[in-house]
Amino acid sequence: MKHFDVIVVGGGHAGTEAAHAAARMGARTALVTLRADAIGVMSCNPAIGGLGKGHLVREIDAMDGVMGRAADMAGIQFRLLNRRKGPAVQGPRTQADRKLYRLAMQGLTAEQANLEVIEGEAASFMTAGGRITGVRLADGAELPAKAVVLTTGTFLRGLIHIGDQKQPGGRMGDKPSISLADNLRDLGIETGRLKTGTPPRLDGRTIKWELLDMQPGDDEPELFSFLHRAPFVRQISCGITHTNEQTHQIIRDNLSRSAMYGGHIEGVGPRYCPSIEDKIVRFADKTSHQIFLEPEGLDDHTVYPNGISTSLPVDVQEDYVRSIYALEDVKILQPGYAIEYDYVDPRALTQSLELRNQPGLFLAGQINGTTGYEEAAAQGLVAGLNAARVAAGQEPVQFSRTNSYIGVMIDDLTTRGVTEPYRMFTSRAEFRLSLRADNADQRLTGFGLDLGCVGETRQIAFESKMEQLASGRALMEALTLTPREAAAHGFAVNQDGARRSAFALLSFPDIALPDLERIFPDLSALAPEISAQLAKDALYANYVARQERDVEAMKRDENWEIPADFDYAAMSGLSNELKLKLSRARPQTLGQAARVDSVTPAALTLILAKLRQMK
Ligand code: FAD
Repeated sequence: MKHFDVIVVGGGHAGTEAAHAAARMGARTALVTLRADAIGVMSCNPAIGGLGKGHLVREIDAMDGVMGRAADMAGIQFRLLNRRKGPAVQGPRTQADRKLYRLAMQGLTAEQANLEVIEGEAASFMTAGGRITGVRLADGAELPAKAVVLTTGTFLRGLIHIGDQKQPGGRMGDKPSISLADNLRDLGIETGRLKTGTPPRLDGRTIKWELLDMQPGDDEPELFSFLHRAPFVRQISCGITHTNEQTHQIIRDNLSRSAMYGGHIEGVGPRYCPSIEDKIVRFADKTSHQIFLEPEGLDDHTVYPNGISTSLPVDVQEDYVRSIYALEDVKILQPGYAIEYDYVDPRALTQSLELRNQPGLFLAGQINGTTGYEEAAAQGLVAGLNAARVAAGQEPVQFSRTNSYIGVMIDDLTTRGVTEPYRMFTSRAEFRLSLRADNADQRLTGFGLDLGCVGETRQIAFESKMEQLASGRALMEALTLTPREAAAHGFAVNQDGARRSAFALLSFPDIALPDLERIFPDLSALAPEISAQLAKDALYANYVARQERDVEAMKRDENWEIPADFDYAAMSGLSNELKLKLSRARPQTLGQAARVDSVTPAALTLILAKLRQMK
């Protein structure tokens, strides 16, 4: 019988990241999954990253994780979302070649020391003395381990819906996990039901591409991994089309046949990834919705129509898809569907993602009520690191809201729980001006090195970058202008007599690096990526200091009283969702408002500003 330090169950996005993290920590790790050739499968959209999600991928990469590296190897269209806005809210995203992503993840897994892949179905847990001591497979094999990480995604009691047809399944083509779901209940672990959905897949050869507007990737692609500079494979464009009145009418006429609206689904779905049925009901006044037609691979005709996930019957899917411009003759390769599955209330977990009442058992990914590959992988990292530490008899480690989006997510999940599938947004992070995608390595790689989960290649690259940043910063601090000199160069600075360094001048949004390089030629000697990074750091330096003071003040302001008739509906800047939730909850103090479900730190700041005005 083989003994492992850590067993990870599930080779999805959470599981692979967890297994790699544990193995990098030196733990003898097994990844038990239903099919080894399905490691790295993307169940839904062929894309990684986006707003908030891209931050998570960069943070995983900063800890030497694998998602960013695999995404770079498979990326066929890189775009930095919100490019025109400030770096704090920019989100790196790539459309990925589905097959290349899977192969990249499997290749990285094969290369990883201390990691063994075992094909099989985990059917129950081994326990002794109130602790989880291993995993029992469906064929009866027993795998003892010091810690177990469970990452079964949408598979626990998964039920697929297409119209009024239902079939058990973990996702299309895979069977669900029933024994394990039963065993979790036997162990007293409470579960609920959530749902998610996916659009039909189209045959790209039947799309009239020549009629469509095409969206290319960025001219200068930004990759995910701090170790990579340029895309690995050919880059492509995707097409853009729209739904229309006819599409909406077809959907409206058939709403009662949708699994969701026909009352066949009890689970709650992701509000931020609504099905096309949801969009038509919730945004009834909109006459059109945008659809991105994303090729799923360089040598694959399958196209993913981003924006029209559905649980309508197949004949209705065919009708509404063919009512869309340039899709009149399209062939559906696989129908869209919805899936319901069991999840565990994440408030049952500690911040290291270990179940409080089942020591030794860690949970990560969709099983914790989240949605998305990136959210899953980030939790996998946390659970894998901690499982390895527990196996080695060490104290758990935590990420905090002040150092990472990972910390924000774990804190949100474990303290507030979920009422719908949780996804990451930049608005969830109160420290978002300092938690940027561009500086994830500066925030976290040192922490990863201390933990022992960062390999030598990254260590060398990171230390060299940090040295260059330090000397570059010293140079920028040493080069100064008086206010009068600055004005002579056309810079609008206060004539307050204070000399300003090049670094300080870069905090002015209208002073750019090339302006300063003309004045101080020494700056041109810095490596372009180093000076660009310093410019971003400088831009936010003042805001970050102010933000930290605001947060301190916020802690003091917890006891502010909120009048009973406070008018949330009239507040601009507050989402409709929060207006509704706060109007219903009527918190009496700011501290209570903070604990209302989904209330973000940004929303609290708005309420506080209003209370101050009213005083
Ligand atoms: P998964 O990627 O599902 O991986 C689970 C793994 O566990 C699989 O490898 C499986 O083989 C393995 N496994 C399960 N049971 C066992 C067992 N008993 N023994 C061994 N191995 C087991 N996300 C979005 O962000 N937006 C969307 O619109 C969206 N739509 C989706 C639509 C559908 C139909 C599905 C299925 C998922 C969708 N997702 C969406 C979610 C996204 O796929 C998940 O968030 C992500 O894959 C979760 O990763 P995970 O690692 O938790 O689980």
